[in-house]
Amino acid sequence: MAHDYALSHADIEATIDASIDRVTIYRTLKTFLDRGLLHKVLDDSGTVRYALCPSSCNESEHHHEHVHFKCVNCGQTQCVEEVHVPNIALPQGFQPIEVNMLVQGVCRACGKS
Ligand SMILES: [Zn+2]
Ligand SMILES: [Zn+2]
Ligand SMILES: [Zn+2]
Repeated sequence: MAHDYALSHADIEATIDASIDRVTIYRTLKTFLDRGLLHKVLDDSGTVRYALCPSSCNESEHHHEHVHFKCVNCGQTQCVEEVHVPNIALPQGFQPIEVNMLVQGVCRACGKS
């Protein structure tokens, strides 16, 4: 929660006490995903990152129809919850399960300097 951008496994390992083993970290991440506290964020590099869920998420319902933004300057990926992924019309026979939308550009913090 101290971070406003999505964290990768490596980021998480770097911030967590080294005495906690990896298996415990990943088991905890999985629990947080199941409970609706975290969601996965995919970026163009294929690195899986995790971000806090909006308060509308819970164990049975996830709402991640928002855009993710990757900054090409600082490399951080963040949730843009106020921007929703538009409905995508697929050809007949295709059933969408999850839609990920990644926008790349320069983030607010980097744009200022
Ligand atoms: Zn969620
Ligand atoms: Zn940036
Ligand atoms: Zn997100």
